[in-house]
Amino acid sequence: MVVYCPACEALVQTEKLSSHEKFNVDYDFAPMRYSLLKCTACNEIQLVEQYLVGYEPENEDHWSSAKRNWPLPELELPLHVPAVTKKSIEEAERCLRAKAFTACTVMTGRALEGICRHYATSSRYLGAGIKELKEQGVIDEKLFEWSEALHLHRNIAAHADERTITEEDARDLMDFTIAICEYIFVLSEKFKDFKARQNS
Ligand SMILES: [Zn+2]
Repeated sequence: MVVYCPACEALVQTEKLSSHEKFNVDYDFAPMRYSLLKCTACNEIQLVEQYLVGYEPENEDHWSSAKRNWPLPELELPLHVPAVTKKSIEEAERCLRAKAFTACTVMTGRALEGICRHYATSSRYLGAGIKELKEQGVIDEKLFEWSEALHLHRNIAAHADERTITEEDARDLMDFTIAICEYIFVLSEKFKDFKARQNS
């Protein structure tokens, strides 16, 4: 199986050391498979999971692509994140892996733009859109501050600027973007449901 090896920081051929199939009780008892893989280049191991997407478990083509659980679990975005934002964050992660930090930062800005579109802000510009998100109460003061930092760095990244985006900055900006999504699309919704339960 060809997968990304975090140690090699590249796609590598792996050898399957063992695997275990089970039913996923959280997902309609869909068949899934865990495999322990060894990188043929560096000898490191990793645990991946796959879902049966076809009908024949014996047919390798009927399993989904492998998602790494350990080490460095692959990014799993909350279900309700808007499609544009989700795609942008996934692309930002691929840029991070390829050490394209400027491109990564541009994609985190795009992810934020996706949130503005989702909440139908009247301005098409990111700066004004973020302000509207705060006025609408979608984000609070702290997230507004993070969003402004993302906006500033997106502008540095998107234009032919002398300043560069370091790996550390790109990683931090990525973490802020994911935290903003979790706050808006998971925790806020959860709290709304919690309040509704208390009031009923
Ligand atoms: Zn490797």
